[in-house]
Formats: sequence, structure tokens, C-alpha cells
Amino acid sequence: MTEAESVTNQGVTGKPAGGLDIARIREDFPILAREVYGKPLVYLDNAATSQKPRQLIEALVRYYESYNANIHRAVHCLGEEATAAYEEARAKVARFINAPSPECIVFTRNTTEAINLVAYTWGRANIGPDSGVLLTLLEHHSNIVPWQRLTAEKGASLRYIGLTEQQTLELDGLENLMDSRTRLLSVTQVSNALGTINPVQELAAEAHRNGTMVLVDGAQSVPHMPVDVQAMDCDFFAFSAHKMLGPTGVGVLYARPELLQEMEPFLGGGEMIKRVTQEDAIWNDVPWKFEAGTPNIADVIGFGVAIDYLSDLGMENVRAHEMEISEYALRRLRQMEEVIIYGPPDPADRGGVISFNYPDLHPHDIGTVLDRYGVAVRAGHHCAQPLMHHLDVSGTVRASFYVYNTLEEVDVLVDALGQAHAFFSNDTK
Ligand code: PMP
Repeated sequence: MTEAESVTNQGVTGKPAGGLDIARIREDFPILAREVYGKPLVYLDNAATSQKPRQLIEALVRYYESYNANIHRAVHCLGEEATAAYEEARAKVARFINAPSPECIVFTRNTTEAINLVAYTWGRANIGPDSGVLLTLLEHHSNIVPWQRLTAEKGASLRYIGLTEQQTLELDGLENLMDSRTRLLSVTQVSNALGTINPVQELAAEAHRNGTMVLVDGAQSVPHMPVDVQAMDCDFFAFSAHKMLGPTGVGVLYARPELLQEMEPFLGGGEMIKRVTQEDAIWNDVPWKFEAGTPNIADVIGFGVAIDYLSDLGMENVRAHEMEISEYALRRLRQMEEVIIYGPPDPADRGGVISFNYPDLHPHDIGTVLDRYGVAVRAGHHCAQPLMHHLDVSGTVRASFYVYNTLEEVDVLVDALGQAHAFFSNDTK
């Protein structure tokens, strides 16, 4: 393992905890220096994927240039270095979400695969015709479709917690939705489409009182706020590296250790076995039982470096910065004529995601004009079509912030939005 991979909390900002030096942080992200159509890039599509710091890019190059090898089986020096760095990244992930041990951390390709792993293994063994799965209207398709497939296959029921007028979860009457048949509550901690923060700790307590297991989709929470899976008391927790300064192709499934022990493997092959005969096989220990084949070694190691970077900034500081940006953006957007803003009004109840629309304009048209001003936002259904249906819209425009965004970039967004609105208003007259 190289020095950079093994050292945490090395001092990225040069500032004491409590305030982030955003100008200094921006220097770590080479892509932020580029222009789009001759305008400085204003990257506000962080809920889709974040940008990557130089430290991560350099760690990937270092891996391929100096210790690229397959892991776990090698008897040579390179293999041992790669194995140590890969397993050290697992330990960093465990510490980052306060998992009780690295053995509770399974590396997958992304959040989607982590949720599918639970559906295929725990779900197949525990959901039957008399069972139910409970979701919410705020879920991403990756926390809907696996459960639709499983419940259809098993003849089980599938229900959804609805929304209040402020687009928070409607928890009045929860007892009617979560009954003795409900085996699993699967809920996102933060909505990728509206930014709503859900009370997952309270929901987990309520579910456990009912004998219901809890999966939390942390794809939009872990990158942006402190997360403690033990305090939350969830049974499963899933998230993706690429939304938290890490590379694409790496996801995480955390599960309570006893669950991983009893669950059947997901994929079969090399790495996930201890011994294979002509007839059968004995599974490897957890978590390797769930990591069949050669894993994404370089990117897992890179993910460890991204976690170091975030840990060094301090997740409380990351959250405070995003709240400041969201508060300002909400204030500015509310001053604009006609803009419809979705999600809870109080920035304390939402992550750094703001979804909005103009009454008569298609979100794609807005997004396309914003792009011409260098502003990258997302426009569409955000992989949350049941939610869009509930809101009675085809989609929304979504600006989502991260640690390198500035108040000045919010101003650029608002100005560009004004131009877009004026352009289309004239066009339709
Ligand atoms: N859940 C939520 C809340 C998300 O925002 C996303 C990504 N947009 C996912 C799940 C799926 O993540 P991935 O595509 O990395 O599997």
C-alpha cells in the first residue's frame, strides 16, 4: 500500500473545522476549470454523479503504474500491496458510516446492485405469498423495480407510504400500511428527486417494533451528511461511490453481520468459495462470499481516497455548506416569477437538491438553455416516475449541490434561468 492510501485526515483545506475553504477545495477538482460553450462550467448535477478530486485521479494512476495485481490469491509483492489497499478501503468505508466492522461491508457495482443483492438473497428466502414489502413514493427506480419483481414472483404485496402536501412522508396512518405481514420497509434517506430528508431512524424503530426489517437507500445521504448505521439501526444500507467524489463502478451494501452470515450468496464463481468439489462448494467467509470474481480493485482503492478526502473536510462541514447554498438558492428561486419549487420549504428538512418547474415549459427545454450558459442541471423524471406521476408532472429541473459549489454559482443559475424563461416566453407569444 502506498503512503497516500494508508493515511487519513491529512489536511485538505488547511482550515480549522467549522468552515470550508471552498476556493481551495475547487483547486482539487481539475474539471471545474473547464469551460462549456465559452462559459465557466457551473456543475449542479451532483445528485447524478459528483466530480472527482485530483487526489483520487492520482491514486488510480498510482495503482495502475505501481502495484496493479489481482487480489487475495497472489503470493507476490504486488498482489499483497493491492490486497492490503483494497481491504483498507473496506475498513475506511466501515468507519465512515460507523459500521461495527469491515466484514459488514460488501462491495458491489453501485446502489442498484446492492439493493438487488438483498432482493435476490434475503428477499427470495424471506418474502412469500403472505408477506408484504413497504416502499415510499419518494423512491428511486432502483429501490422500486427489484421489489416489484420479487413481490410479483412470490405473490407478495407491495405498498407505498404516500406524501403530505409539503412532499414529506405521510406517516399518519402508517399502522394501516405496515402490518404483521410487512417483512421489509425499504426507504431512501434523502430523495434524489426532491431533496426531502426522511426520518429513517424513527421509521426503523417503528418497523422493528412491528417485526419488519429495514433497508435504507443512502445514495443521496452518505455523500452529504454524517451517517451512522448503528444509530440509525437499519438492517441493510446501500450507497454508491460515484456520488461522493469516488469513481464509478463501486457500490456498498452494509448489512448487520448476522444477516450476511445467514444469507445465500448472490453470484457464484471464484473468490466467493472456500472449496469446490465436482458436486458442490463451500462458501467463503463474509463479506467475500458476496464478491464473486475479480472485483473493481482500482476503483475500490480510489474510493478509499475519496473517503479520506471527505473525512478530512468533516461531514458536518459538508452538510453545513450545502445547507447554506440550498438556503440561498431557495431564497433566490422563490423571488423568481412563476417558478414552482418542490420539496419541503425548510432547508433543514432537505439535502442539497432543489427541484423546480415553470408552469408551461418543459424541463428539458430549460435544461438545454441552461447548458448554453455553462450550467449543468438535470431535467426529467430523475428515475422516480411514480413520484412524478403523483406530482402530476412529466419531470422537473433539478439543481443539486456539493462541497465545491458556491453562492456565485447559484447567481449564475438564477440569471441563466431568467434568460431561459424570457427566451421561451417571447417564443410562445
Ligand atoms: N437511489 C437513489 C436515491 C439515487 O439517487 C440513485 C442514483 N441517482 C440510486 C439509488 C441509484 O444509484 P446507482 O445508479 O449508482 O446504482
